[in-house]
Amino acid sequence: MKRTAVIGAGAAGMMAAIAASENSRVTLFDKNEIMGRKLLQTGNGKCNFLNTSLSPDNYRGSLKEEGIFKAVRDRYSEEFILDLFSSFGLLYHIKNGGYYPRSDTSASVNDILINELKKRKVDFHPLTLVKNIEREDKGFFLTLIHLKSDKKSRDEEKYDSVIIATGGMAAPKTGSTGDAYYFAKNFGLRVTEPLPGLTRLFSPDVFFNETNVRAEVALKLFIDDEPAGCSKGELQVTDSGPSGICVFDLSGRAAKALKAGKKCVLSVDLLPEYSEGQIVELLKKHAGISGTKTSDIFTGIFSERLSLCIENKMRKELFTDREYRFITSDEDIKLIASFIKDLKFDIEGTGDFNNAQVTVGGVLGEGLNEDLSARDVPGLYFAGECLDIDGDCGGYNLYWAFSSGYAAGKAASLFNWEGAE
Ligand SMILES: Cc1cc2nc3c(=O)[nH]c(=O)nc-3n(C[C@H](O)[C@H](O)[C@H](O)COP(=O)(O)OP(=O)(O)OC[C@H]3O[C@@H](n4cnc5c(N)ncnc54)[C@H](O)[C@@H]3O)c2cc1C
Repeated sequence: MKRTAVIGAGAAGMMAAIAASENSRVTLFDKNEIMGRKLLQTGNGKCNFLNTSLSPDNYRGSLKEEGIFKAVRDRYSEEFILDLFSSFGLLYHIKNGGYYPRSDTSASVNDILINELKKRKVDFHPLTLVKNIEREDKGFFLTLIHLKSDKKSRDEEKYDSVIIATGGMAAPKTGSTGDAYYFAKNFGLRVTEPLPGLTRLFSPDVFFNETNVRAEVALKLFIDDEPAGCSKGELQVTDSGPSGICVFDLSGRAAKALKAGKKCVLSVDLLPEYSEGQIVELLKKHAGISGTKTSDIFTGIFSERLSLCIENKMRKELFTDREYRFITSDEDIKLIASFIKDLKFDIEGTGDFNNAQVTVGGVLGEGLNEDLSARDVPGLYFAGECLDIDGDCGGYNLYWAFSSGYAAGKAASLFNWEGAE
């Protein structure tokens, strides 16, 4: 029987091993003692593993641009992944558009995959770091480091195919330390610089002098003054900048732009469901009341703390020459209304890999076929976050990990050296 090695027992690697086991004997390696270490942490321990409205617009990266994401999805759609999990025995439910295990605990997803791997007699090697992959005469040999004894050895087994599913660089404590990039480069594939994605942003703006403030907003990201993305949701104000899922969804694009030395500005609409005209009418109700608090004009519209954030920014940018509480003219009210529909923040940085949920960048699509095999290295496959594609928050990245894992596993197990070169 053919033999397949899968490197990395995360979401992508476990699924790859399951798919490959249909036609191949599979060995699965991970440097962790347990499988699915990151999977267990997903969705705040609840594992949002899919989304009810998935589209290519939720993804970015060269695998999308080169049609590889579409090819994988055409074969292994959301329905396919759901049916697969059902066939393994997982109960799931939908919450706010996301699929979660019915138990609301990520361990249910992890355990069901582990059970399936056991049923299929996949040979799991924990605490085993794959140091090197060598191609030799129609097959591959692996150099291993056994972390328990720190011993290095050359695996005696010769594998017909190898699947690299070692993740990206996000949350490195879970084991994903960018090893796929080293393997890929050794085989002549190109890799874009990995950057943190789905993380917070940093801004020096006075608006962020307050903390623990939340607001439902609409966001637009501008890179060198050009629109580069938008999102909606709960903005979390922290003392060093904006956070929250709607911010996470724009952070990968901001990280790329900042790395390239471009200017990044976040525009926040604090009342997206109201027009500027409607806001003018609302503000007029309170204008001119000479209370003690300068934020009286926002009474009934924003929380007191959010009003203070706005006020800090208005003092610096809008009404530098007067006391804000004496603002009563229609013209001033119009200025305030348009200000809160378009608060602009300079973005100077993003969270690092320790705080990121996904990696932006990775192994480029140009070196891969649609079945995730390396174009110039027969028998070598890639799956999961190590590839240059990243999705929004909300089950999109796990869908990619599972579907790409299944695609690579299936193709690798059917790979035949006869006629391959
Ligand atoms: C806190 C957090 C929450 C998240 N929540 C969600 C969510 O709710 N929904 C969603 O869709 N996505 C979520 N994500 C993103 C999602 O978890 C990842 O995109 C996905 O799990 C990546 O799977 P992977 O198998 O490609 O990589 P990983 O899960 O990173 O697995 C890679 C594995 O390879 C092993 N490995 C690495 N190098 C070697 C080597 N040389 N030898 C042997 N083993 C090696 C590692 O130990 C690791 O176990 C979250 C991420 C984080 C960090």
